[in-house]
Amino acid sequence: MIYAGFSGLWIAGSDQVVQTLFPEAVSTVQTFKGSAFVLCTTVLLFLLLRREMARRSKIETRLRDSERKFRAIAETAPVALLIARLRDGVILFSNATASSLCGHDGAPLDGLDIRDLGFVPNDREQWRRALTGRNGTGQTEGRLSRTDGGERMVLVFFQKVRLAGEAVLVTAAADISERHRAAETVRVLQLELAHASRVSAMGEMAAQFAHELSQPLTAISTCAEGGVDALFPPGGNPDNALTALRLIVGQAKRASEIIRRTRKFIEKHEQEKVRTDVNSLIRDAAELIQGEANRRNVDMRLQLAEQLPTAFVDIVQIQQVIVNLARNGIDAMSGNDPARRQLVISTEPSPEGIVVSVEDSGPGIPPEIRMRLFEPFFSTKSDGLGIGLSICRSIVEAHGAHLMVSSAPGQGAQFRFALPFQAA
Ligand code: ADP
Repeated sequence: MIYAGFSGLWIAGSDQVVQTLFPEAVSTVQTFKGSAFVLCTTVLLFLLLRREMARRSKIETRLRDSERKFRAIAETAPVALLIARLRDGVILFSNATASSLCGHDGAPLDGLDIRDLGFVPNDREQWRRALTGRNGTGQTEGRLSRTDGGERMVLVFFQKVRLAGEAVLVTAAADISERHRAAETVRVLQLELAHASRVSAMGEMAAQFAHELSQPLTAISTCAEGGVDALFPPGGNPDNALTALRLIVGQAKRASEIIRRTRKFIEKHEQEKVRTDVNSLIRDAAELIQGEANRRNVDMRLQLAEQLPTAFVDIVQIQQVIVNLARNGIDAMSGNDPARRQLVISTEPSPEGIVVSVEDSGPGIPPEIRMRLFEPFFSTKSDGLGIGLSICRSIVEAHGAHLMVSSAPGQGAQFRFALPFQAA
């Protein structure tokens, strides 16, 4: 019997019987045993080697296919892909999108320094943090200067990894110039719309301002006449003249304050956030609507929490929100009995920030209107433009907050938002 296995081969039989019966045949058998062993081992090894080579070749073909596939994907990807050595910024791989994004017309960027191409974003601090950080990953938006002098806005993702023992930076960048331009156009349009809405609100409130201004102006002329009488005999009294002059100064200041507030409110301006005392901002906004509230028999009250922290806001824009919400509240209460026309503007601290709320005692907002409340140009008023609430919402959101509304039928409406404390 011949047994063959991976590690050896042998012939089994009764060597003793063979030796007794055919002593001269023993050496022949032993020689045969040795040759058969070598032959079988060789054949076996050959078969195993062939199988192993076929297996490796299959793996190599699969690897080559996969590499080709990934390379083709990377080279034709619609985002710019770059791999650069961290040590000196030298680009080891770049695709066609990266090249055309930089203005190199498809010529490979390999060998160039990634830092010279402007992929290192404007926000160098974020970049530095990402590269020295533990997970070495990050995302940033920046301006990329092209070789032709043009500029592109790019959204860049980067990841620090080790490739064949070397630290490299894998960078993927997408051209977001179009999106950025569209967002910029929307931003400018929103500013224009907000401005137009303020001017229109002021136009509607012009009568109120004329009335507000006429009060200090009348007081000034009356005091001036009194002062003249007090200065000149008969019956002149310098003390009375001084009192009259002081009153004139006070009233003139009041008049110029009304004009300043109004001008500031309707001025065109870019968004400009500053650290602000929210209560004083609300007091100024309330001054702007006090006249209208008086004229329409609305009892306007301020309930302002004391010792609030400051917030980082655009003063005019937040005033615009308060004026819009308050005027809507005043409009909503026009059908109420004059004794039940109450408007409360309040502030209070909360974990989310300073909660500003404008609450009226009008009829409230029916569910079918509530769904469309913030839609641009939705209005239930015969003379309404329907842009007030949509502007309010975009202003509030630009301050990192949400404009919320709650209203139970017949129990008025409450609009509120929380201005974050540290939204710098
Ligand atoms: P406009 O005031 O020009 O109508 P807005 O966008 O400010 O535009 O308001 C849209 C609509 O929302 C109003 O027409 C009204 O129907 C409703 N609304 C707003 N505020 C209130 C409120 N406080 N109470 C009841 N309804 C309101």
